Amino acid sequence: MYKTTAAVRSAFLEYFSKHGHQIVDSSSLVPGNDPTLLFTNAGMNQFKDVFLGMDKRSYSRATTAQRCVRAGGKHNDLDNVGYTARHHTFFEMLGNFSFGDYFKEDAIKFAWGFLTEVLQLPKEKLCVTVYQNDDEAFDIWNKQIGIPAEDIIRIGDNKGAPYASDNFWQMGDTGPCGPCSEIFYDHGEHIWGGRPGTPEEDGDRFIEIWNIVFMQFNRQADGEMLPLPKPSVDTGMGIERISAIMQGVHSNYEIDVFKTLIAKTAEIIGVTDLEAKSLRVIADHIRSCAFLVADGVMPSNEGRGYVLRRIIRRAVRHGYKLGANDTFFYKLVPTLVEVMGDAAKELKALQNVVEKALKAEEEQFARTLERGLGILDGALAELEGKVLDGETAFKLYDTYGFPVDLTADVCRERDITVDEVGFDAAMEEQRKRAQAAGQFGADYNAGLKTDADSHFCGYQDTTGEGKVVAIFVD
Ligand code: ATP
Ligand code: MG
Ligand code: MG
Ligand code: MG
Repeated sequence: MYKTTAAVRSAFLEYFSKHGHQIVDSSSLVPGNDPTLLFTNAGMNQFKDVFLGMDKRSYSRATTAQRCVRAGGKHNDLDNVGYTARHHTFFEMLGNFSFGDYFKEDAIKFAWGFLTEVLQLPKEKLCVTVYQNDDEAFDIWNKQIGIPAEDIIRIGDNKGAPYASDNFWQMGDTGPCGPCSEIFYDHGEHIWGGRPGTPEEDGDRFIEIWNIVFMQFNRQADGEMLPLPKPSVDTGMGIERISAIMQGVHSNYEIDVFKTLIAKTAEIIGVTDLEAKSLRVIADHIRSCAFLVADGVMPSNEGRGYVLRRIIRRAVRHGYKLGANDTFFYKLVPTLVEVMGDAAKELKALQNVVEKALKAEEEQFARTLERGLGILDGALAELEGKVLDGETAFKLYDTYGFPVDLTADVCRERDITVDEVGFDAAMEEQRKRAQAAGQFGADYNAGLKTDADSHFCGYQDTTGEGKVVAIFVD
């Protein structure tokens, strides 16, 4: 039953190709068609206009292994990394899509067929959810697939519920939307957590592996839900979660890809305890950072570049915590290229650029990291209570290059939070002072300003000195 991550990826694409789906390449992490989106965070992103009927393709069924980043915007899993067994900043989403072609019945049968026939997962370890009033999906699971009614869980849209599950998907406030059906895997009672729809669902016992979205309605501005003339299907399954199952491990961080990355990180830094949480964080972060640079994002003080900078600096801080006394982060790139195989085509072609960019950022931050951490340690030692003041967090940001979430990451390890309101106020003060002095406060704009109007087309050495910059065209 063991399958490598690479084998899971090809089995998935082959299965759906066999069922009439066009295999489409993963799109960039920088969405080319959606200025409202920070990073590509789902397989359906590149097909948004196809679902909306504004873009026609030569196929009505597609399948992809889409690289995704969830480290900001609506989906932000950055703070879950190191704390759950199932979340990454970067992951690959396996998906199959129907553009007005098949609907609920086939979508459910395909998913079940892949899990129980191709991967041969034991049926009794799987449980499914449907949207609260989606009797159609309920009946397909119950009558056609044969799942006992008590194992099909009805989930609402999370309005006022004490738990996080949400089985109603929408693209935006208006437009295509519809109910979801999700498949979960039970990793066993020795792990804390409850079935979906219970207050304990956020534990890591029942892990969500596959989300199947039935795009069925077109929500109007006045809230009316008109049925779509040609309903569609969008699904997403995290490859790391299904690989964990296929490799007989509980945590995503124990699969082949992560084992190799973690071992390499430990070797470079000289760590013997392979269980150290910081190793997991670094192994996670090298994936998002390297793939983001390969897709045209460079560390900077705003928008996407600032999200990247924050992730790199968090990784560097974790390395420091493990005792790294030299640059280490960029040295993981060759191993990453190797373990990601087919998924690293673009990364491989730009490996040099990626290594240089990560190295430069690491070196720059290394100059202030130690002193900043010294100041933070001092402040925490003197702290009364459980909240670090915004002034200190701002000083670390302003003078030592500590993004506030990095300070929060350090504090969280000691059960302390950061006064982010105070931080924002200190930032605003600074901005006013700069303005009063007739300067520009642009460096302090850490908000979302994306490069979405322009299109990344590669890197160039514009200085002739090996200093590369990303090239965008409008
Ligand atoms: P969760 O509830 O576990 O946070 P989700 O409901 O946010 O997951 P979806 O938006 O439904 O996830 O995405 C589809 C699939 O992508 C999930 O079922 C899961 O397998 C995978 N996935 C989502 N977020 C992550 C992540 N941060 N890291 C790894 N895989 C993920
Ligand atoms: Mg989530
Ligand atoms: Mg979920
Ligand atoms: Mg989900």
